[in-house]
Amino acid sequence: LEKDYQFMVRVRMPGGRLTAAQYLAFDALADRYANATLRITTRQGIQFHGILKGDLKASIADINHTGLTTLAACGDVVRNLMTTAAPRRDARHAQVQADAEHLSRVLLPRTRAYAEIFLDEEPVSPEPQEIEPLYGPTYLPRKFKIGIALPGDNTIDVLTQDLGIIALFDEADVLTGYLIAVGGGLGMTHNRADTFPRLATPVCVVPPDRLVDIVEAVIRLQRDHGDRTDRKRARLKYVVHDRGIEWIIATLAEYYGEPLTPPPALPSLAVPDLLGWHEQGDGNWWLGVPVPSGRIADYDADAGEGLANVRLRSALHEIATRFGHVAPIMTPQQDVLLSDARPEDRDAIDAILAGHGVVPASRLTPLARFALACPALPTCGLALHEAERVREPLVLQFEALLAKYGRADRSISLRITGCPNGCARTYTGDIGLVGRMPGHYALYVGGDFEGTRLSFRLLDRVPDAKLIPSFEPLVAAWAEQGRDHEGFGDFCDRLGRDRLLALIDHAAQA
Ligand code: SF4
Repeated sequence: LEKDYQFMVRVRMPGGRLTAAQYLAFDALADRYANATLRITTRQGIQFHGILKGDLKASIADINHTGLTTLAACGDVVRNLMTTAAPRRDARHAQVQADAEHLSRVLLPRTRAYAEIFLDEEPVSPEPQEIEPLYGPTYLPRKFKIGIALPGDNTIDVLTQDLGIIALFDEADVLTGYLIAVGGGLGMTHNRADTFPRLATPVCVVPPDRLVDIVEAVIRLQRDHGDRTDRKRARLKYVVHDRGIEWIIATLAEYYGEPLTPPPALPSLAVPDLLGWHEQGDGNWWLGVPVPSGRIADYDADAGEGLANVRLRSALHEIATRFGHVAPIMTPQQDVLLSDARPEDRDAIDAILAGHGVVPASRLTPLARFALACPALPTCGLALHEAERVREPLVLQFEALLAKYGRADRSISLRITGCPNGCARTYTGDIGLVGRMPGHYALYVGGDFEGTRLSFRLLDRVPDAKLIPSFEPLVAAWAEQGRDHEGFGDFCDRLGRDRLLALIDHAAQA
C-alpha cells in the first residue's frame, strides 16, 4: 500500500485576475480535490492544498479547463507576474496590467511535456527537438520572480523581486519608460551567513518598447551565471552580490545589446490600503475584502476569536454566483478585491458578507489589515514553526499591546513565516517573525511600511511566551519618543539594534 501523498497545486494568474466563472470553478475544485479551501498567495496566485497524488493529473487538467493554468506557477522558471491589484480604470493601471499579462505570456516555457502529461495531448509527430529559446535545455538555476509596480502603489514589494520593474509616466500619464532593479529576494537559511535577504538594486531605465528585451536579458544573465551547484545560493541576488553591480551592468548591457541608461532616482513608493469600497474611475466600484492569511474557508464555531463562524468561502461563492460581472482580484496582501461592482450592487454584496459573519475592513485595525502569514504548519514541509494558525491570536495580542500605548490607529505591518524562506515577505515591513525552531521565532524589526528598507534581526530563538514582552518596551519607547508620523520600523531603524536591546534588557530587569 502506498502512502496518501498530498500535493499543493498553484495557479498562475498574472496580477491576480480571474473571472467570477473561473472563481466558481476553482471553488468547486476545492471540494472535489482539495481541503475545501482556496488559499491566496502573497504573489497573487491561488493554491489548492491537500490534493492526493491520485487526483493530481485530473485536478491540473480541470484547472486548465477554466482557461488558467498551473504551468510556470512553480518550478525554475519565471513565476506568477505580480502587479498592482487595484482595478483603477486609468492609463497607468491599464498599462501595468497589460505589461504583466504580456510578459507572463512571452516568458512561458515552450515545453510540450506539460500538455502531454497533464492534458493528454498527443505528442507532435515526428517528435521535434524541444527548443527553449529563453530558458535553454536546463532552464534557470532557481525560481525567478518579477513584479511591476507603479510609484504610488508598492503593494507588490517591488524591491523584493529578482527583477523589479517600476513603470514611469509623465504628468499627462504617458508611459516614458521602465526603471529596472535586479537582485531582490528574501529567502535565507538559518546558520548560513552566505545566505541573506536582499533588496533589488536599480540598474537602468529602458524605453517602453524595450521592456521585453531587458527582461529577457536579465533572465539570460541569471540562466548563464546563476549558481547551479548550491540551490541555497542559486538566486540572482547572489550573482549581484558576488560579482558586484558594475559587473552586472556591463554584462547585462551585452545581453541587452547596447549600453544601459542609468536609472533615475527611485520614485517615492507607497503602500495604499485597498480594502473597503473604492470607486474605480469608471462609475463602478471595487470592494476589498480582508482574507486572514489568504485562506478562503468556512470556519466553524471552534475556529477561535476572529475566525469562528466566519463563512467567507460561502459568501464569495454567493457573490460570484449572483453577480457574474464582479471579477475577483487576488492581492499581494492575500486579500480579494471584488471589482466591477455596479453602484446598485453594493448594498446586496455588503449584506451577503455580513450575513456570513465576514468582518468588514472598516472594523479592522491597521495592524489586522496588513498582517501577513505564510501557510507553515501543517501544510508546508519546510516549516519550523507556526504562521497561519497563530496569525489571529498574534494579531489580537499585538493589537492589545498597541492599544495600551495609544498606537492602535497607526499603520504597521506584521509578517509571520514558519521558516526563513520569507514567503510572507518577513524581512521587509515593520515587524517580521521568522520560525526558528518549534515554539521559537527570530524577531526582525527596522524595515519600513513602504518596502524600501530591509529589517534586521533583533533577537534569535525567542520562545512564544516572550514575544509580546520583548516588543512591549519597544512599543512603549515608540509611543514616548517616536517623532510625528514616524512608523514603528522607522523608529527601530533610527534607534538601532544596540539601543533596542538595551530597552528590552532594562525592562526585563525592572
Ligand atoms: Fe514559505 Fe517557509 Fe512559510 Fe513554507 S514555512 S510557506 S517555505 S516561509
